[in-house]
Amino acid sequence: MDIEKKVWEVLCSEEAIKQRLSELGKEITEKYEGKKLYIVSLLKGSFIFTADLVREIKIPVKINFMTTSSYGHSEETSGNVEIVTDLDEDLTEYDILIVDDITDSGLTMKFVKEHLERKNPRSVNCCVLLDKPDRRQVELVPTYIGFTIPDKFVVGYGLNYGDYYRNIPYVFVVTDKDRE
Ligand code: 5GP
Repeated sequence: MDIEKKVWEVLCSEEAIKQRLSELGKEITEKYEGKKLYIVSLLKGSFIFTADLVREIKIPVKINFMTTSSYGHSEETSGNVEIVTDLDEDLTEYDILIVDDITDSGLTMKFVKEHLERKNPRSVNCCVLLDKPDRRQVELVPTYIGFTIPDKFVVGYGLNYGDYYRNIPYVFVVTDKDRE
């Protein structure tokens, strides 16, 4: 994809993300009060979302990262999800919250959720910054959703465009200039 031939349309501004994360943090804090909250962040896409979200959570929280891969076209999952880096510890006393950047087909989140459930934690819930329900291939509704968005390819705030643009502090949509 040639970025010069594209238009950037802001979908979630920095201010909107900040406001929504404050709300989500409050909700999660209330829900997990008195529990052993263990956040499992899925790399790489969720690193910025996770870093900002956990600072809005006002109870002790354990944080770890998992890496998954799905082979196929870079903008779309192939359906073959694999765990590249797993959690290697006893999870039985924890309430797990999986944090990801976006749920598209839902295959990644469903796979990771079922994988972690087999480790017998107290609970497993999911939190995503963005949800694209129109693209869903499996039955999966994230417990916490930042923004529900249309079926468009989005970039920024951790989400990549090729190898770049994860550092852009807002979420934007990339469209072809000649489609304007
Ligand atoms: P799923 O398994 O739900 O189809 O896909 C999840 C992963 O696909 C996300 O964690 C993300 O890496 C990638 N993905 C899905 N939609 C988008 C998108 O609109 N933009 C970018 N940059 N990545 C996406």
